[in-house]
Amino acid sequence: MANFQTHITVAVVGSTAATALCAQAGLIDHTQVLPLIALGTLAGILPDIDSDHSVPTRLIFNVLSFAVAVATLFTLLGQMPIIPLLGVALLCALFVRYIAYSLFAGITEHRGLFHSLPAALLFGLSTVSIGIHVLGWSLSFAWLSAAFVSGGYLLHLSLDEIYSVNFMGSTLKKSFGSALTVFNRSSWLSYLILYTAVGLGFYLLPAPKGWISL
Ligand SMILES: [Zn+2]
Repeated sequence: MANFQTHITVAVVGSTAATALCAQAGLIDHTQVLPLIALGTLAGILPDIDSDHSVPTRLIFNVLSFAVAVATLFTLLGQMPIIPLLGVALLCALFVRYIAYSLFAGITEHRGLFHSLPAALLFGLSTVSIGIHVLGWSLSFAWLSAAFVSGGYLLHLSLDEIYSVNFMGSTLKKSFGSALTVFNRSSWLSYLILYTAVGLGFYLLPAPKGWISL
């Protein structure tokens, strides 16, 4: 399996090159360059969120707990005095960072569902949904961002597969085939739920207008 350093380097190089191509083709303006590179890079380390106590897991849960604290502050601002409000926000952040993190680490298995094709698609579709409903992005930018998220994610899975090939003796390591999983019989129900969610996402989300016709 590729290590964190390899993943982050390939993700940065890949998303920067893809962003440059999009800018060249006139698909994005200069304000959209950095968000796309950041999204592609984050997606390139996201699958390893399932390996407990790894750098990406800690990083993602730190960002998430900060986001939850900020969201709590904004939601309850004006509804309660500021000192207790700060306390509530802190408690929510601690809950996400320690309790939700331990639960997540307990239920996920490394190279399980998160290292699969439907997971890559689902993260892309979630990007479209959050982009248009929460962040107010245009439809075309939301879908382009989704392509960066799914693309960065798939790049990670492909790298994991490439690293499971032993180049010297051209033999396959035991981990081959466990990174880019399309379906796994032993967890068929989870895959069924994932594929149903992907299908629903494609069905319910508005199709990008203009440069892609679906
Ligand atoms: Zn991985």
